[in-house]
Amino acid sequence: MAMDRFNVGPIVVLGAGINGAAIARELTLQGAEVLLVDAEDLAGGTTSYSSRLIHGGLRYLEYAEISLVRESLTERDRLLRLAGELVHPLELVIPVGNRFSGLISGAQRFFLKSGAAPKDGRGSLVIRLGLSLYDRFASGAVPNHRRLTSSQFAESGLNSSKFFTAFSYFDAQLTFPEQFVLAMVQDAQAAAKEEGGAFSMRTYQHVRREAETLFFSSIHPNHDSGEIAITPAAVINAAGPWVDTALAGLNVPSARLIGGTKGSHLITRAPDLCKTLGPRGVYAEAADGRPIFILPWNDACLIGTTDIRYDGDPAEAVASNEEIDYLIDATNSIFPEVGLTREDIQQHYCGVRPLPAVGEGSTSSITRSHVVHRHPGAPFPLYSIIGGKLTTCRSLAEDVVKAVLPDLGHDVARNSRERPLPPPYFGETPLEGPLLPDVNVPVPHVAYAIEHLAAKTLADLVERRLMLVFHPDLSRVCLRALGEQLSAAGWLDAAQIDQEVDHYVARLQKRYGKRVS
Ligand SMILES: Cc1cc2nc3c(=O)[nH]c(=O)nc-3n(C[C@H](O)[C@H](O)[C@H](O)COP(=O)(O)OP(=O)(O)OC[C@H]3O[C@@H](n4cnc5c(N)ncnc54)[C@H](O)[C@@H]3O)c2cc1C
Repeated sequence: MAMDRFNVGPIVVLGAGINGAAIARELTLQGAEVLLVDAEDLAGGTTSYSSRLIHGGLRYLEYAEISLVRESLTERDRLLRLAGELVHPLELVIPVGNRFSGLISGAQRFFLKSGAAPKDGRGSLVIRLGLSLYDRFASGAVPNHRRLTSSQFAESGLNSSKFFTAFSYFDAQLTFPEQFVLAMVQDAQAAAKEEGGAFSMRTYQHVRREAETLFFSSIHPNHDSGEIAITPAAVINAAGPWVDTALAGLNVPSARLIGGTKGSHLITRAPDLCKTLGPRGVYAEAADGRPIFILPWNDACLIGTTDIRYDGDPAEAVASNEEIDYLIDATNSIFPEVGLTREDIQQHYCGVRPLPAVGEGSTSSITRSHVVHRHPGAPFPLYSIIGGKLTTCRSLAEDVVKAVLPDLGHDVARNSRERPLPPPYFGETPLEGPLLPDVNVPVPHVAYAIEHLAAKTLADLVERRLMLVFHPDLSRVCLRALGEQLSAAGWLDAAQIDQEVDHYVARLQKRYGKRVS
């Protein structure tokens, strides 16, 4: 069955989030010709709005998702080894309020996949059981779980009227999934060169179909290069929460595949919370039994998340007042001395999980596993990706390649299981030279991001290349300087810079609750 060269024609991947980028990389390793296409910017979807954990998913054990937890832990340990500059170990503490609670409801969820979270929180027996399994499935890349000593517990700041002990275990943190996507795109370029394939990427694209041909055109106002036509060997729809919209855009009939739930996060630099937390995160339960994370993250704390059914446009999802209050209340019930208030929240963000469409029921019980869905009768081999996590993007990509290549008459030749993933390259860092005002980023990095990393708008630069969206000193002056760089490269009219900055400041306020002056 195997052919010498991979010469079936271009494989189109729709969606340049973490999964689309991982799939494109895995395909280029086979020597394929790959076109990665995004309706907007790379990593502009759910990938940028997650809890940023590379984790086994302790909670999934309750729902008997044993193989998902095993796979996630294998991938976690692999990423710690192969992408160590992007993913680092993170110690997490689970506070415990009683011994036996959760045994019955946990068994209900394990065997019946239903049942509410225990009213009194999960007890130490249930937690210990879960953590022991977690240790067993992992490969020893991080220390095993342990119980905090009584003095460590006393110094932890955890609510001692609610909890009597706590367990510590390790997972991992991917500080910037946005940059992980960039790294994978750069590695896909490298793999294409090594394996004699081809890789290209187009962002801000509209796609339409006529028979077996796809037509791509730019939707960026400053870039109109006409349409390009491609007759793909296969199309992989990795559009995350937009999977159904992408199918509609291709005019391919399908039952609804995605039933998203939204999750919000808060970012605070409240000194009392950051100091109390120190280098460890906390994984605890809110009043309704839903698990929440309070994580050290960059120079701040990241608090999340919620899980609410969501049918709107994922690009419009924002943290509601209720969600913000819920996360603040949960934090204060775990760390009562901290007294977190609305004023302490610097910004927030909200993402939509691309989960499988299911009927009514608890959102927590919806599987977090991924599915590669074939569309029989489509005009070309077509596959949609349902679900998935940051953590399993690489193994998902392997599954996609295993599904697609045999359909195209090829064997799978290689995989990325042992392939290192270096951080994204932004050009040489100059020892001296101009810096962006207020945030001190070298101006040549901006130029490099525009010229080589497909940045075309202020949002691309601020949110997904330079990560200035999280910088406390991001200012209008800085945004104007970025606008001038975009203008010099032809992506923004000089006369429009001030107006664009105004629009963007309004977006930061609406989407992130971030004030920029
Ligand atoms: C609140 C929350 C917390 C989470 N926390 C974690 C966590 O801690 N750890 C973890 O492992 N996972 C976590 N996840 C899950 C994880 O973030 C997602 O599963 C993952 O980011 C999905 O990536 P994706 O590439 O499939 O989708 P996306 O990142 O949404 O990418 C889809 C891309 O498709 C593009 N697109 C849309 N329509 C089209 C079209 N018609 N044509 C072409 N492109 C199109 C979009 O612009 C977007 O760039 C979390 C998710 C949420 C919501």
